[in-house]
Amino acid sequence: MHNLISIDGSQGEGGGQIVRSSLALSAITGAAVEISRIRAGRPKPGLARQHLTSARAAARVCNGQLEGDELGSQRLLLRPGPVTGGHYEFQVGSAGSAMLVLQTVLPVLLNADQPSVVQLEGGTHNPMAPPFDFLQRAFLPLINRMGPTVSVELHRAGFYPAGGGQVTLHVEPRPLSGFDLLQRGKRVHRQITAVVANLPGNIARREVDVARRKLNWTEAECRQRTVESNGPGNVVWAEMAYEHTTEVFTAFGEKGVPAEQVVNRLVRSIRRWMKHEAPVGPHLADQLMLPLALSAHQNAGAVSGGRFRTTELTQHAWTHRDILQTFLNVAIDVEGEHRECEVVIRPSH
Ligand code: AMP
Repeated sequence: MHNLISIDGSQGEGGGQIVRSSLALSAITGAAVEISRIRAGRPKPGLARQHLTSARAAARVCNGQLEGDELGSQRLLLRPGPVTGGHYEFQVGSAGSAMLVLQTVLPVLLNADQPSVVQLEGGTHNPMAPPFDFLQRAFLPLINRMGPTVSVELHRAGFYPAGGGQVTLHVEPRPLSGFDLLQRGKRVHRQITAVVANLPGNIARREVDVARRKLNWTEAECRQRTVESNGPGNVVWAEMAYEHTTEVFTAFGEKGVPAEQVVNRLVRSIRRWMKHEAPVGPHLADQLMLPLALSAHQNAGAVSGGRFRTTELTQHAWTHRDILQTFLNVAIDVEGEHRECEVVIRPSH
């Protein structure tokens, strides 16, 4: 009988990532987890629909028993069973992010003894969540570098508030092998894409014009697209691809916010990134910790753990570090906290 691990959901950053990662790590390690005070400090505390879908999805893929899985619940208990790969379908049932559900089940399915295909329905481009393009171009290539073969397909975009996006995730597990990512290397590509759905095309055109003018990029480096979706939506994202890594930055259109203001947020993120040399940006940093920590804990791949250099460690990242060290036999050290720092992840035994 495994121990029960107790997690205070309001610790540190106090958001949904504590819930999602705790459930995933419980499913992977086989240790039961009880999470209390879930999102206690948030304006609407407890589980929102996207957290609920993630919790149920985590329980499904590990054949676990879940208690407390209700909207608004501030407590969850998961008693995990064996992880099983296969065909799954998860629907958020609102515009909540389906990408956060993907973020929850992917590490678990990387531990299955067979491949998986997962159909997801919900938001694909939501503020405060990894957008589809970030997962496809920045995060998943690093997972694939670790051994597995993971890919995603976008069938339909989903924006707040209509949702209804559709994505398929394919997972072929392999033992996770860590890596070092300390330099960007030469830049090989950069591209800004302004996307609209069910909105006038001039929104995307204005965004592209502003980005081009402010950043002095070429016409070929700035493009616009109209996509199918259930409701209106606008997102503008930048892909910065280098020899050793790719980063994706995103700004989300909002009702009442002019397109110029939306794209200015993206321009600021790109300028901040250009002032740095580290290969890993703030969101990628908090998300990369989990697979690298698993490679250190499981010690099954060619390399256990690794290190990366990041432009910034957010409170998300610090909190994630605490959760990972609670579940796994790993030490996560941060060297040089000023401006840029290096995150070092290794087995602790
Ligand atoms: P939480 O706020 O605790 O639900 O966690 C949000 C998750 O979404 C974290 O893993 C963030 O790194 C990630 N995230 C939020 N915004 C972005 C973005 N623009 N690009 C990539 N990841 C993001």
